[in-house]
Amino acid sequence: MRLERYLVEQKIKVIIDDQIPHEARMDVRDIMRIGKKFFNLNKKQQEWVIAHEIGHWFRSKYVSLGEIMGWEEGENFWIFNPMNSEEGFADAFMYYLFDPNFFKKKHPERFKRMHGYVKNRNKYIKMVKDIMKETQ
Ligand SMILES: [Zn+2]
Repeated sequence: MRLERYLVEQKIKVIIDDQIPHEARMDVRDIMRIGKKFFNLNKKQQEWVIAHEIGHWFRSKYVSLGEIMGWEEGENFWIFNPMNSEEGFADAFMYYLFDPNFFKKKHPERFKRMHGYVKNRNKYIKMVKDIMKETQ
């Protein structure tokens, strides 16, 4: 099974790739690979996975590594994944889209910062939905 779609507007190419062991993975910036495991998840879980991957894409596009580095263990953010700033950012992005109140309550300062990066939350929620459509 191999399917390729290009979301022109958002510049992310979605590839259904049954060779990868992950649910999904972001490749060199603009390619999102969706693996077999993805299809064992329920709709909501799938959306969260896609949001996490878009978080990686967003980070590489709009936020310098320097801005998120050093926010590992001890820095107390990315609370969501304290051992790895990249993964932590992707998780924070995912919460920003789908559970902003939890994020805000848990870490108001970082929430503000994420808000400053993202600005248009709905645009990225729509992006998740568009990618969901591509995978059905
Ligand atoms: Zn990740």
